[in-house]
Parts: sequence; C-alpha cells; structure tokens
Amino acid sequence: MKFIHQSEPFYGENERRAVYDYLKSGGWLTDFKKTRKFEKMICDYTGAKYCVVTTSGFVGLFLALQAMDVKRGDEVLVPDVTMVATSNVVVLAGAKPVFIDVSRENICMDIDLAKKSVTKKTKAIMYVSLNGRSGRIDELKNFCKKKNIVLIEDAAQSLGSFYRGKHLGTYGDVGVISFSSHKLITSGQGGAVLTNNKKVYERIVRLKDYGRLQGGEDYHPDWGWNFKFTDLQAVFGIEQMKKVDGRSRRKKEIYSLYQRLLSSVSEIKFIKIDLENATPWFIDIFVPNPRALKKYLAKHSIGSRLIYPAIHTQPIYKNTKGNFPASSEISRRGLWLPSSLTLTDKDIKRICSVIKDFYS
Ligand SMILES: *Cc1c(COP(=O)(O)O)cnc(C)c1O
Repeated sequence: MKFIHQSEPFYGENERRAVYDYLKSGGWLTDFKKTRKFEKMICDYTGAKYCVVTTSGFVGLFLALQAMDVKRGDEVLVPDVTMVATSNVVVLAGAKPVFIDVSRENICMDIDLAKKSVTKKTKAIMYVSLNGRSGRIDELKNFCKKKNIVLIEDAAQSLGSFYRGKHLGTYGDVGVISFSSHKLITSGQGGAVLTNNKKVYERIVRLKDYGRLQGGEDYHPDWGWNFKFTDLQAVFGIEQMKKVDGRSRRKKEIYSLYQRLLSSVSEIKFIKIDLENATPWFIDIFVPNPRALKKYLAKHSIGSRLIYPAIHTQPIYKNTKGNFPASSEISRRGLWLPSSLTLTDKDIKRICSVIKDFYS
C-alpha cells in the first residue's frame, strides 16, 4: 500500500519545462526580471499595491518588523498557537513576544484579549490568519490605527484566502505570505512581503539588498542585509502562481470531502471555516486523542501531524507567564490529516475509512 504523506509538494511538467527553458536561455539566476514578474503576479492576485519577494516567510516577517522600526525594548503581541516562526522572528528583531491566547472559534489571536493586553511597550501586533481563517481582522485593523500600533499580518498560510473581498495580508501595514514547500504554492523556500505603503515598500527593497538604492551601485544610505530571492525560484513560482485558483479550489474540495465523509464520527470536530472566502491549507480536526489516532493512521501507511503545541509550552519560552486555556486545548486536541494537492478522492476515502475503523 502506498504511504500517504501528511503533506508533500505538488508540481509537474510545467515547472520542469520552465526551469529548463530558463537555464537554456542563459538567465542570470539571481533576483532579477523573473522575480519582478513573480512579484507582479502576486500583486495582481492579492490586490496589494507592492510586493517584495524574499528568501522565506520568516525573513519576510523580519523585513516587515525592521521596516516598521520594531526594535529592542518593544513588545509584540503574538498568538499562542502558530508556527514558531511568528515569535522567533520577534526575538531576532530584538523585541519581546507577548503571547495571547487564541479564540476557540477560529484559532486566531483572541482579539478582545489582545486589546486588553496592550501596554505602553506594545509596538506591534503580529496577527496570524491560521489556516486561512481571518477572524475579525478589520476590527483589529481599526483598533491598531486608533492606538498607533503597527499591524503585521503573518498570512504565511493564507494565499487564496479573503475576508470581505480583500485578500489576507493586505489588511496590515505589512503582510507576509510563505512559499515553503508545504504552502499553497511553493518556490522551494520563499516569501512575499505585501504593503500598500510606498515608503515601507522602498525601505524593504533596500533592507533586502544591503541598503543600496540599486544593485551594482555601492552607495549605502541605509542599513541592509542580503535577503534577495533568485530568478531560478521565481521561474518555478510563476508556474505555480498561474495555477493558484485551481489549487485553491482543490483544497476546498478536499476539505469538504473530509468533512462529509467524517460527519458521522461524533468524536471529530471541525472548526468553522468559510469556504467561500478562505482556502484551508491543512485539514485540521479536533479529537479527544490525537496521538492515538496518529499512531493508528501510521500503522495503515497514512501520515498525520499534531497541531503546533501552544508556544508558551516550548522549552525556549519556558519563562512565559499567564494562562492560555484555549491554546492549550486546541494544541491538545488538534491533528492535521493528509492535506496535499496530490491526494485523490480515492485516497481521502481510504483515509476516512481507516479513521472510522479507529473510532468504531
Ligand atoms: C510557514 C509559516 C511561516 C514561516 O514561513 P517560511 O517560509 O517557512 O519561513 C510563518 N508563519 C506561519 C504561520 C507559517 O505557517
């Protein structure tokens, strides 16, 4: 029986041919015309005015923090359930992540709690639209504006996800999408930084290229690092981006099929997701005993993955104070089922029948 991975990348002949043609054309490999084209496609799709592509989603978040002047002594609110990138990047920028419990409704940062947790030191809020769920991000945006707090959207998982007609990642001062190999589209590694602010855009362009105004001119009015992309990756990303609508549609179908096939299993809970607007990236289910189910699935050649542990429980954040009841519960019960675009309906039926066996 073939092993079904929890997640694997999906690409084909178009990507192979595009990379081959690019190499044959004698392209210069580094961050250049193909990267500009990739950025333009992301602007067109998301409606962002500006886009800067960089080496990863994590680095995109770092550029966002630097461009918005988040620094030592500042505090940044971060949800307690997210990929560790969200909080580690705050540490890299020299600031302090302050963890906020999540909402049981959408696994995003609890906005009411976030509002109450703001202090004089709160410079920014890092809002994560986990698995494409937006929460009331417009309300948060208004709050941040009123309080003069920077809003950075970690929309790493949210390509293909909208809220009230606007793509996620375009609500914040800056928003970031990831193209790591498990995300909706991939360039191997990679990330896109979105903003509607020209000054912020120009700052990020300089930050990612040693503070220069232009490649080949070694005048440095600004600090900067090397976080440039490569055209080799852009060529791959462009082919993936051409298929983004179909990929998003298929993710929604996969989610709906799981939901339908598992609806009779009373132990399994799905958290509401608005499939009209959101693209589920991973299939997340909530069960009393995710570890036991994971083990059973593995025995039947099916991969799955426990949802992120609440970040405050990680050894690297062991000094965190506070209570995080919702985050703790979500992390205790959550499991990601196979979610790749390589899945066939037949695969999903097989997975669901194994799950039903486990619970019968
Ligand atoms: C994937 C991911 C990141 C990091 O993106 P990379 O491209 O892997 O660096 C950050 N935040 C969240 C929520 C993610 O899912």
